[in-house]
Amino acid sequence: MNENITILRRYYFPKMNVFRQYSTLNAFIDQNSTLGLVPTMGALHQGHTSLIERALAENDQVIVTIFINPTQFEHSDDLKKYPKTLDSDIKMIRNISQKIIVYAPESSDLYSKSIKSSSYSFGSIENVMEGKIRVGHFQGVATVVEKLLTIFLPTNAYFGEKDFQQLQIIRSLVGQKNLSSTIVGCSTCRNNNGLALSSRNSFLTKNETKKASFIFEQLKIAKSLWGVESSKFIIKKIKNSFSNNHDFKLDYFDIRYEKNLLNAENKSENKVRAFIAVKLGKIRLIDNLPLYEF
Ligand code: AMP
Repeated sequence: MNENITILRRYYFPKMNVFRQYSTLNAFIDQNSTLGLVPTMGALHQGHTSLIERALAENDQVIVTIFINPTQFEHSDDLKKYPKTLDSDIKMIRNISQKIIVYAPESSDLYSKSIKSSSYSFGSIENVMEGKIRVGHFQGVATVVEKLLTIFLPTNAYFGEKDFQQLQIIRSLVGQKNLSSTIVGCSTCRNNNGLALSSRNSFLTKNETKKASFIFEQLKIAKSLWGVESSKFIIKKIKNSFSNNHDFKLDYFDIRYEKNLLNAENKSENKVRAFIAVKLGKIRLIDNLPLYEF
């Protein structure tokens, strides 16, 4: 049987609050209550559920979206390989609360004419790190997030600091387009060894998962040196550690201001983070850590 029909049969029941079409879902939104939105691409883990739980605590109604957005993938192969676990995602959401509304559309519901990004200018926050390596990625992210924020008009929308550059892109988008939602940044959930939870971690072997704790260890070393040594010194030291560890191939290790993502030279009043992207085996992992105390 066609996969879509199966999904429709199983989930397209209003009483279960799982929707394939936003026009049907919108009838379930109480315009007089607060609404929290948690956009995801599925393959849910505790990082996602921490956002959902926060949204539940802070809003009367919550929508979780599960949509693997095609326009943010540079290579169609990556899109094909992205884990698709709708059944277990819905179970996981049900276990948190039955009252959560799930929006799991087909592309055609969001991209009615053509599957293309809109065009945005984000300046310095787009042209570095992930934006530099994955050209067009943030244009795609901004496109789908603008659609979701415009369709559902949530009071609050929740995004993880795990993807800090993405968070700043979305804040910029909301400012530029004068959107009404408050963007809430949520701290990164990690496993017991410090590895930031990610849907991509499911592709790591057991041994690689253990080795991956090296990434958080290096971020913590950078944090301990910040304010004592210059940025240049710290970056050189961390890059050396990665060159001496042959399990990893470093894409970048940067120290940047949170606000504009420009390079930070020395400790200042402004909030600064260390950012890393690294390949472990075949899997590319990203992480970041604030270098200031809360
Ligand atoms: P994704 O499904 O990867 O698009 O992620 C959906 C949301 O979950 C994004 O706002 C991510 O930043 C957030 N997220 C992913 N991993 C984590 C994590 N380990 N801790 C907190 N938030 C996360």
